Amino acid sequence: MKIDHVGIAVASLEEAASFYLRTMGLEVEHREEVPEQKVRVAFLRAGETSIELLEPTGPDGAIARFIAKRGPGLHHLAFAVSDIKGEMTELSKKSAAPIESEARPGARGSRVCFVHPRKTGGVLIELVERGI
Ligand code: ZN
Repeated sequence: MKIDHVGIAVASLEEAASFYLRTMGLEVEHREEVPEQKVRVAFLRAGETSIELLEPTGPDGAIARFIAKRGPGLHHLAFAVSDIKGEMTELSKKSAAPIESEARPGARGSRVCFVHPRKTGGVLIELVERGI
């Protein structure tokens, strides 16, 4: 399985992006607001993968709660899959059922689901089936 992106929770998309653009020399490849997840995101190309910066759009989303509890920082590791429904079924058989029973809309027209860190040894894992 290939790593699609690494998700980082940030308080300010502009401040975080500025660090990655000016200091690390990365480029923004996509920006989007994802209302279903109450975030604004920016994807920065980093070689064959991407860094996803996630800024909360309100106080009640998962990213807002994460930042309130732990501060900004590494949030999740996302793997690219071609058949998210099939992967969700496989993970369920292996006692690593995703948090959601159905994949939901993610950024860039993708469908996504998450596996809770307690099932993965401490890392929130996202599966991503890219949109066409
Ligand atoms: Zn992600």
